[in-house]
Amino acid sequence: MIIAVDGPAASGKGTLGKRIAEHYGLNHLDTGLLYRAVARSLLDRGIALTDETVATEAARGLDFHQLDETRLRGADAGEAASVISVYAGVRAALLDGQRSFAAQTPGAVLDGRDIGTVICPDADAKIFVTASPEERAKRRWLELKTTNPELAYETVLADIRRRDERDSGRASAPLRMAEDARLLDTTKLDKETAFQAAIVLIEADLNRNV
Ligand code: C5P
Repeated sequence: MIIAVDGPAASGKGTLGKRIAEHYGLNHLDTGLLYRAVARSLLDRGIALTDETVATEAARGLDFHQLDETRLRGADAGEAASVISVYAGVRAALLDGQRSFAAQTPGAVLDGRDIGTVICPDADAKIFVTASPEERAKRRWLELKTTNPELAYETVLADIRRRDERDSGRASAPLRMAEDARLLDTTKLDKETAFQAAIVLIEADLNRNV
């Protein structure tokens, strides 16, 4: 069984993806970490993010089992990931690994931007998680403020808007909702209600596919 969870930056799809995987006893892959790891590899070596060849090589050599989540979570890696993720070579290099991960028994939940549209178009269930840019920025700001008290809400909102624009506007696998995905708008939902709503939507898909 494969469940695709897509959505924009800070929509909460990572947390949801993890909980959905636990609920159904499936593997979980946060595909944003793959793009973050490629970006981190360039940043750490002082290589310009404009170097598509090196970025593609880094993507080809990426070990999906060696993703250090704590190191990759930073805002700089997220911003850099959205720059290198526009390269078709990078996306192509990460495609087979994501599909192989999804094909492992007993199945998987993958979250990202293009899971329902490109990576697993035949997924058994697809949800597209979103929330208003203001609400996503508020959640991200509250989270980041604990380690960076100086951080302004407006800075985070501008970052979210820039990322949305880049992720939706790129030519290669842009962020968009698959036609057969179910929309989950979490703007007015807390984490628990969002999780319960996600399960209802997924069950509707799974029952349809029986
Ligand atoms: O989800 P997260 O914010 O960790 O992703 C970081 C960046 O990686 C995104 O802004 C997006 O540009 C890119 N990404 C992608 N395709 C995915 C997952 C992430 O292009 N499936």
